[in-house]
Amino acid sequence: MKYKRSLLKLSGEALMGDNEFGLHSTRLQQYAEEVKKVVDMGAQVAIVIGGGNIFRGFSRIKEKTITINRIKGDYMGMLATVINGIAFQSYLENIGICTYIQTAIRMDEIAEPFGKDRAIHHLEKGRVVIFVAGLGNPYFTTDTAAVLRAIEIRADVLLKGTRVDGIYTTDPEKDKYAKKLKNISFDMAYHMGIRVMDQTAFILGNENDLPMIIFDINRKGNFKKVISGEEIGTMVSKKK
Ligand code: UDP
Repeated sequence: MKYKRSLLKLSGEALMGDNEFGLHSTRLQQYAEEVKKVVDMGAQVAIVIGGGNIFRGFSRIKEKTITINRIKGDYMGMLATVINGIAFQSYLENIGICTYIQTAIRMDEIAEPFGKDRAIHHLEKGRVVIFVAGLGNPYFTTDTAAVLRAIEIRADVLLKGTRVDGIYTTDPEKDKYAKKLKNISFDMAYHMGIRVMDQTAFILGNENDLPMIIFDINRKGNFKKVISGEEIGTMVSKKK
């Protein structure tokens, strides 16, 4: 295998499947099986889970559909990630994977508080760790949380599982000549304004030399392929 320890970022949207909101059981089951294939190889998997399928502080406020201030909205978004984390933990445990949740906002009955040493200990024991509540601070996203947690647990790579299979020169849904890029530097990703990951995440990744791979998580077997070193998706890395 190429990547012994990875951090998988699963967005809330990925968990809602075709639904407009909430969780999709088939998807949760499918992702749990993807994780199992990788754990069975002896790889260590940590997960940062998003919350956009339940609540996204910022966009709701922009749309003016609901009057909740940004900070409160962001806390609601962080709590949404906790709901997702508990749901995904259940699906992983149902197929025999020992899974711990660590949270950036203390809630002792539900999850361990975040702690990098304990997280690494779990990973070394073959357990999966799900990080929830983002960074515990408003004005951040779970993408940024994913980069930070990956750096803290010394992950070899950050994997962003999405419904697109990588980064394209232009929007592939609008332009039939859009070309998929195999490799791209953080500088390029930042300057192209790539939206698949937020910009703060790219900057942090660049400063800390953390490679990221954007790949299609919905295609069965892809997670294992990426961990094994198959070049699917787009790799974003520091310009050498
Ligand atoms: N959020 C936050 N701080 C964090 C992580 C998340 O305030 O460290 C809030 C923010 O409102 C965000 C919401 O939680 O919109 C859900 O996270 P995100 O949008 O990153 O989820 P995803 O897009 O991955 O589903």
